[in-house]
Amino acid sequence: MRALEEGRSKLLEHEAYEFLKYFDLPVPKFGLARGPEEAVEIAESIGYPVVLKIVSPDIVHKSDVGGVVVGVATDRDVRKAFERIEANVKSRVPDARVAGILIQEMVPQDLEVIVGATRDPVFGPVVMFGLGGIFVEVLKDVSLRIVPVTRYDAEEMLNEIKASSILRGYRGMPPRDRNAIVDIIVKTSRVMSEVLEVTDIDLNPIMAFPEGRGAKIADARVLVRRVE
Ligand code: ADP
Ligand code: MG
Repeated sequence: MRALEEGRSKLLEHEAYEFLKYFDLPVPKFGLARGPEEAVEIAESIGYPVVLKIVSPDIVHKSDVGGVVVGVATDRDVRKAFERIEANVKSRVPDARVAGILIQEMVPQDLEVIVGATRDPVFGPVVMFGLGGIFVEVLKDVSLRIVPVTRYDAEEMLNEIKASSILRGYRGMPPRDRNAIVDIIVKTSRVMSEVLEVTDIDLNPIMAFPEGRGAKIADARVLVRRVE
């Protein structure tokens, strides 16, 4: 694993997406561009609109340094956004090592859910599920299972949270694609069983689309460690 060889414990964003793709997790289409022309090529192959983001092991909050541009819709705007991000980073974090600029499919805003995993010193690998935003951060409304998590377990996790009725649809909001969420939980569990190097996974947010339309991971954090 490249990150470990370089002494990093956090995968860069494109490494995280590449990794999750191996496990057939639904990540947005993406490519890493080193220059504005490559950025245009990637954007065209993904399809507009796209998002551009700085990729650097030295930058944690990309927006804070002008490292993210969303809703980019033309070749010309891709070049402009690329150059703007480069300039912002150069002036605000001059010493940052830059791997490139990530060109990413724009994920439409929808109901946000979260799937996470960690290695508990007592229970071993565990997977967590909850709804995004205040549901997890303020209300701590989450469900947990010890790995391996079956589809049946994952269904139960969806039903166990206090706000589970939101997933079934309420007040004109349509029911969510439960199967797609169950899929993400089970695959996250599989990553934890199969890849001992991974210590933590944080898929936050995942956009949960209406029934039949799937779900997509909008942000991912993957932490790794050396395993002897
Ligand atoms: P950071 O948190 O480091 O500033 P993020 O990757 O979270 O950077 O991007 C900042 C914001 O841009 C996100 O909170 C989200 O609103 C938006 N965003 C990022 N990537 C996408 C995407 N692929 N599709 C839609 N919106 C996105
Ligand atoms: Mg963010």
